[in-house]
Amino acid sequence: MSTEFIKEDISTPVKYECDVCVAGGGVAGIAAALSAARAGRALGLKTEVILLERGFMLGGLATAGLVTIYLPICDGEGNQVCFGITEELFHLSIEHGAEDMYPTAWFDGNDIEERKKHRFQVQFNAQLFATSAEKLLLKEGVKILYGAPAVGCVNDNGKITHVVIEGKGGREAIRVRKSVVDTTGDADICKLAGALTDTFPEGNKLAAWYYGYGEHNLKLYMCGVHDVPDTTENTELQDLRRFSGLDTEELSELVELQHASLVNNVLDRRKTITDLVPVTISTIPTVRMTRRLIGAETQDIGDSCVHYPDSVGIYPSWRKRGVVYELPLSILYGKEVKNLLTAGRSVSVTNALWDITRVIPVCAVTGEAAGAAAALSDDMTKIDIDKLRAYLGSCGVLLEWKK
Ligand SMILES: Cc1cc2nc3c(=O)[nH]c(=O)nc-3n(C[C@H](O)[C@H](O)[C@H](O)COP(=O)(O)OP(=O)(O)OC[C@H]3O[C@@H](n4cnc5c(N)ncnc54)[C@H](O)[C@@H]3O)c2cc1C
Repeated sequence: MSTEFIKEDISTPVKYECDVCVAGGGVAGIAAALSAARAGRALGLKTEVILLERGFMLGGLATAGLVTIYLPICDGEGNQVCFGITEELFHLSIEHGAEDMYPTAWFDGNDIEERKKHRFQVQFNAQLFATSAEKLLLKEGVKILYGAPAVGCVNDNGKITHVVIEGKGGREAIRVRKSVVDTTGDADICKLAGALTDTFPEGNKLAAWYYGYGEHNLKLYMCGVHDVPDTTENTELQDLRRFSGLDTEELSELVELQHASLVNNVLDRRKTITDLVPVTISTIPTVRMTRRLIGAETQDIGDSCVHYPDSVGIYPSWRKRGVVYELPLSILYGKEVKNLLTAGRSVSVTNALWDITRVIPVCAVTGEAAGAAAALSDDMTKIDIDKLRAYLGSCGVLLEWKK
């Protein structure tokens, strides 16, 4: 690898201004932008919100990545734990119909024994969810900039003053009057702004989900780490390979392997489903844990019984029934950059807890909390936590977990 550096002399025009800039339009970004816009209005604060998305579709992994299973918003023991925007997005994802796992026990009945058996989750249509989310955000007055990857930040006195994007219009800056929420999934803004970050040491296994049509049926197919292509010279090595998700060349190889793996999987399945054709494939790399913020606090898998004075939500474990966590605000911001929060895949948790917090409902819970906090304050170390909690509570968000 070359160690040569170039120094560019760039003057960047300031083209946009906003109060809250949300970078990354996945589930966490959708929730954060919605929450910031609504909180601003409800609390009588002027809050212009810009949502940046590097691609041209909202939803991130949940839509462009074809990860179309909204994991549970219940505790696995018959109790719903996520409300507010997390529940709203659950409903929005299937407003034009569920693809699978329709939560009959939760929508069409209230039998606790049935609810214990069937967790409150659903499979949705990626395209309809992405377009419904776009419509809702526009209705709430959020300005969406597509094709707008955030590539830089300007800081002054411990706060971000500008976020730089690089789109078709070239390099342009957004002046930020209040706060930034990093929902890039990879803590890109945290890294760019000089916040402390950490990476997932084990990396990501190869995965390539696709929708296929065959035998008069449309179905979601999943290929995992073992579905590496026959054509790869050293399949054993590929089986062992892990991807950090944070290097351009490595991500390109991941995508190429995903494509080859997918074709291989289709051809293999054609032995039984002879007319199978893939109808849609993931258009972003499917990585789970990459980089995260090192926050003011870091939550661990063993913290499910801990109560936090700065709790701003509740989330369940999708893996283990009966395990529910309070969400402390202090895992959404760091000590270095006062007006920066993160939500979604990149919040401050230990490696053991990361697999629990990276999923869709938790991304929505953290997004709602971060968005409201960003609308309320430009300094997370001094935020009026009682006001934030009172606002979130008024939106129906549960703040404490009592069994
Ligand atoms: C193979 C696989 C299977 C999974 N299965 C499930 C499942 O069944 N159920 C479940 O609930 N979860 C599942 N997950 C996890 C879940 O889908 C994701 O972790 C979650 O959707 C992440 O949401 P997010 O908003 O934090 O990030 P992302 O979905 O990654 O969204 C980030 C968004 O930011 C954009 N972006 C990135 N960088 C920039 C930038 N610099 N500037 C502007 N925009 C940027 C991206 O284009 C993207 O739209 C799975 C994940 C994988 C990889």
